[in-house]
Amino acid sequence: MPCLLFRAGNRFLAWSVTPLTARNNPVRRSSPGDIVVPMKLTPLALAVSFCLSAATPAPPVRGLHLSAPSADDLPLALRFIREALPKEGVNALVLEFNYNFQFTRRPEVAEPGGLTAEQVKTIAAACREAGVRLIPQINLLGHQSWAKRTAALLRAHPEFDETPGKYPQNEGIYCRSYCPLHPQVHDVVFDLIDELADAAGADAFHVGMDEVFLLGDDDCVRCKGKDKAELFAQEVRTLNDHLALSKRTMWMWADRFLEGVTTGMGKWEASANGTEGAISRVPKDIVLCDWHYDRALPTAEYFAVAGFPVLSAPWRKPDVALAQLDAIRRVRTHATAGIADRMQGVLQTTWAGMGPFARAYFGEPASNANVAEALTTFRALFRELRAMDGR
Ligand SMILES: [Zn+2]
Repeated sequence: MPCLLFRAGNRFLAWSVTPLTARNNPVRRSSPGDIVVPMKLTPLALAVSFCLSAATPAPPVRGLHLSAPSADDLPLALRFIREALPKEGVNALVLEFNYNFQFTRRPEVAEPGGLTAEQVKTIAAACREAGVRLIPQINLLGHQSWAKRTAALLRAHPEFDETPGKYPQNEGIYCRSYCPLHPQVHDVVFDLIDELADAAGADAFHVGMDEVFLLGDDDCVRCKGKDKAELFAQEVRTLNDHLALSKRTMWMWADRFLEGVTTGMGKWEASANGTEGAISRVPKDIVLCDWHYDRALPTAEYFAVAGFPVLSAPWRKPDVALAQLDAIRRVRTHATAGIADRMQGVLQTTWAGMGPFARAYFGEPASNANVAEALTTFRALFRELRAMDGR
């Protein structure tokens, strides 16, 4: 324990004053390893408190987000799961498949070359052996195209498009969306979720839902004129209700619940089309993945106060990732249990495929600057998380 006192210098020294404030606020937090600290300020009590504060454990969720591997990269992906993830302390792996999976219930929506159910089961087995929770992802509602390429759902079912016939070649838009009010869209989407989640043996599923710009379009006969916050909230509830049937927890990106104009956060990491009001209309058992890549904004605290479990999600700037972790540590140390326990941890994003990221991790030259920077950030963040646990 004494070694922990001095490992991080001033940061832990600052925590030694917590008993002073705790005297007037005795019910503080309940994370494993911490102890409520109403106590008299004797030298012994201060010393004990100093040790306990220094020993505040890392938050429970230490996640990594990657794109699903190609079939050719599957052996490397399995090695990465077995060797790298336990060593680094990763305990949750979000794998973004989108439609890169050989769906058998909806084969028309399978992108060519995606993994089979049997291959995903080998990933799931490796994760179980490594003590890692595997959480598959399909990005739903928005992100149904990228540049000129429309993704498999709207290629196979153009009738689900929120803006059918508009924006040829996807010119002039960021990404297509499906229409959340199309009467058949969820029959298909639910089949996709269930088949992928079953193959992954998952108890949680990430539905994406970030950066939804096309919503309630004036040319959609079903959505025209409807409140965008309610359209968004309804889709969140619909997906969450479906996952609840199989007792799965829903994870999603959090940006549409933030107001981006007056806050200055902008339309990417927050909303400029009025969806932020949805936050009060969705269940609070959804895990919000609060991505911010350039600044450590106080939004995880906002979601925690609002009642949601939340993960801070950095990308390629170590200082931002560590500042986000500092915020998590500060809240988990000082806030009420009701708030502190909702600051669940981190989800390191990479915006890289599992193969390229794993190759760089194992020492090959990074395939591009993004991979190198994400890897550097990942190493810095997880080094600090391990330090919090005395590893
Ligand atoms: Zn619509």
